[in-house]
Amino acid sequence: MAAPHRFTEQLIAWQKVAGRHDLPWQNTRDPYRIWLSEIMLQQTQVGTVIPYYQRFLDRFPSVTALAEAPLAAVIEHWAGLGYYARARNLHKCAQQVASRYGGQFPASAELLAELPGIGRSTAAAVAAFAFGQRAAILDGNVKRVLCRQFGIEGFPGQAAIHRQLWDLAESLLPAGDIEPYTQGLMDLGATLCTRSRPRCAECPVAAGCIARRDGRQGALPASKPRTAVPERTSTFVLISDGARLLLERRPPSGLWGGLLVPPEGEPAVVLSRLGLSLLAEQPLPAFKHTFTHFRLTLQPVLCRVAPSGRGDEPGLEWVAVERAADAGVPAPIRKLIRQVASVTG
Ligand code: SF4
Repeated sequence: MAAPHRFTEQLIAWQKVAGRHDLPWQNTRDPYRIWLSEIMLQQTQVGTVIPYYQRFLDRFPSVTALAEAPLAAVIEHWAGLGYYARARNLHKCAQQVASRYGGQFPASAELLAELPGIGRSTAAAVAAFAFGQRAAILDGNVKRVLCRQFGIEGFPGQAAIHRQLWDLAESLLPAGDIEPYTQGLMDLGATLCTRSRPRCAECPVAAGCIARRDGRQGALPASKPRTAVPERTSTFVLISDGARLLLERRPPSGLWGGLLVPPEGEPAVVLSRLGLSLLAEQPLPAFKHTFTHFRLTLQPVLCRVAPSGRGDEPGLEWVAVERAADAGVPAPIRKLIRQVASVTG
């Protein structure tokens, strides 16, 4: 095996003395806890994840407990973290670990990567932290560190650049000390080599850094070539009988799958579909929410209906207005509901 790269050696030495050692998912070899943290951290900051992680573990202390729980309970404990496909895959993955592996996560990155919601990088992180396996991670933070350190030009989402980064990540792996190395990459990307204003003066690998040498930290990694973000507009019908709001559970897949949201569509069409008669209608201020692939303008309309109205078909739930924002609804819907609470309250 070739001598370890200086980058690798310096990173390991730095992580051992200056890296993070006290995150709630560190200091354990339990693959369930490590996997859960990795999935939660995929698109969410550490500070946001910590309370969710702890509540989630209290409710689902093991992969078997998670596998046996109803999907609605899992979604409810995820509500607010966004990217709900992660919660659905989390549940599916727990069920496969229970059924295919008797409740024990497989101890190899290759097998882990076959499970739902576990990509190559997450599989490598779990294999490294839980089983000490020598496997390369390459998440968004690591791509940024490598592009800057090694002066890699081009958008990392492009197939050829992506392959180049994976090859580089593999070539940098140490023979031992995989845990501090992997953690060191994560720590460097999260704490010093941040997207804006990296703290190069404190960086353990500054001496070999091409972006720093050339003053190109702001230009690397290259940003995605600009394409217009598609825009959509949707009307949400906030049906209230005075004290309660009518929410509808979405089908399990698609946007906000499995979550409760107000019915979507033209108010007259929605009310006739639900057999409700309108007493008064009031448009509320619209606002925009940006998803990964599109921007949605949410146009809320408050519709008051008679208290004796129907709306008790399967999939529909009347929820007290003051409780509705916490009823396992996605974050932008929470904002809509708060608007209703302020006009009805
Ligand atoms: S020197 Fe600066 S740009 Fe280079 S890896 Fe360190 S923090 Fe990132």
